[in-house]
Amino acid sequence: MERKIYHGKIKPVDIAQALLGEFNQGNMRAQTLGQSDKMIVQVGTRPDAASGGQTAMTVTIQKLEDGIMVEIGQQAWLGVAASLGMSALAALRNPFSLLGRLDDIAQDIENLQISERIWQIITQTVQTAGASMELSDKLKRLTCEYCHAANPVGEASCIACGAPLGKAQPTTCRNCGYVVRPSDKTCPNCKQVL
Ligand SMILES: [Zn+2]
Ligand SMILES: [Zn+2]
Repeated sequence: MERKIYHGKIKPVDIAQALLGEFNQGNMRAQTLGQSDKMIVQVGTRPDAASGGQTAMTVTIQKLEDGIMVEIGQQAWLGVAASLGMSALAALRNPFSLLGRLDDIAQDIENLQISERIWQIITQTVQTAGASMELSDKLKRLTCEYCHAANPVGEASCIACGAPLGKAQPTTCRNCGYVVRPSDKTCPNCKQVL
């Protein structure tokens, strides 16, 4: 399971709609479940797809305080491997037989790239909305340990009492957008070295 966090003005429905628009055509099908705060988008091959094997993936989009968290589950392979295997087997016996399976092969290769396409659509949608994996201004607040005043990130000392804030500055993982502490050596979410 892969999980990314985007900060800013973006809602689960923005991502859900973009995925529906991209995948609800041709041999693919997409549908959404849930509403506003937590949406699930299922992307998969149509049961009556003309070529290739069957596959499906689930994308979960959860609203956060100021942004969203996106998770993509494991891709279910309901015959893509079998379909590719059949193409390989047929080619061993008779290379010309591949000509009859080109549609299947093309569709199977497309199926193998679904998760990449899903992340592409998500990245585009997030960028269009002006959200990002960086902390948004709204979340860029630090609570002073001493007087509990809220301070903007980057402030060296508390604007209310003047206590030093330097060590407390939060930041985000560049790979997945998770909010990390300065003391974290690796991202608790995706294990990326910070
Ligand atoms: Zn203070
Ligand atoms: Zn990370």
